[in-house]
Amino acid sequence: MDELCFMCKGQLEDGFTTFMTDLGTCIVIIKNVPAKICSQCGEVSYSDEVAKKIQKIINGLRDSITEVAITDYKTAA
Ligand SMILES: [Zn+2]
Repeated sequence: MDELCFMCKGQLEDGFTTFMTDLGTCIVIIKNVPAKICSQCGEVSYSDEVAKKIQKIINGLRDSITEVAITDYKTAA
């Protein structure tokens, strides 16, 4: 069953994206994150599994970074 974009109901395609989040005191950038990307509007969504892994990576980095952390999903996970 195909998943549809919750924004525009466009077709979602598998791809990779760069996830970025601002924690207030520092910024975390995670490259090569597997995501569903809408072919119509470009909206990006993550599976529950990927979202949990992102959270885990952020939690692991939180205490060790000062300003910016750039990591790779494949090597950090
Ligand atoms: Zn869309």
